[in-house]
Amino acid sequence: MKKILVAIIMISIGITPMNSGTHQADTEKDRIVYICTGPKVVAYHYDENCKGLNKCSRSIKAVRLRDVPKRHRPCKICAE
Ligand SMILES: [Zn+2]
Repeated sequence: MKKILVAIIMISIGITPMNSGTHQADTEKDRIVYICTGPKVVAYHYDENCKGLNKCSRSIKAVRLRDVPKRHRPCKICAE
């Protein structure tokens, strides 16, 4: 009985990583992040109310992670 259970677990582990991996990557890219539209800004924020965004003198824009300009890096305050 135990062997069967282990086999089932192994099969489900073997199948799911590819599916869930792809799914997670898509979800991550579709995640909404926040960027300040100022010219020297190079960070994007996961938290709309992040302290780093409080310093923003221009408007704050919500964008999908896939649309964030390449020079942007995750904020050190709200990113984990
Ligand atoms: Zn932040």
